[in-house]
Amino acid sequence: MRSGVNIWLEKERCENLMLALENPNCPKFVRVDDQMINTADVSGIFTANTMEDMTLRKNGKWQCDAGSWHGRQDKCECTKSVYTEAQEEHFRNYGYYPTS
Ligand SMILES: [Zn+2]
Repeated sequence: MRSGVNIWLEKERCENLMLALENPNCPKFVRVDDQMINTADVSGIFTANTMEDMTLRKNGKWQCDAGSWHGRQDKCECTKSVYTEAQEEHFRNYGYYPTS
């Protein structure tokens, strides 16, 4: 909701609400349980996953290309290549990673 209030609904209720909102003659208010919702105030209907992402973003977290969440100050190291045990061994022996 634009007011910042989140209303959690079961899937079935969501479907009904979405149908109501999709209706070109969408009523100004729709009833959800014992509440009346001003359809103009609805900012969207989101899945729990989307809500989670939005909460993380609101808390200053960001998602990198690898799909991991990082704190504002964190540097992403997800794309750093991961070396095999043999390559690590090479590094320990020679001080550098083998190129292939
Ligand atoms: Zn990352």
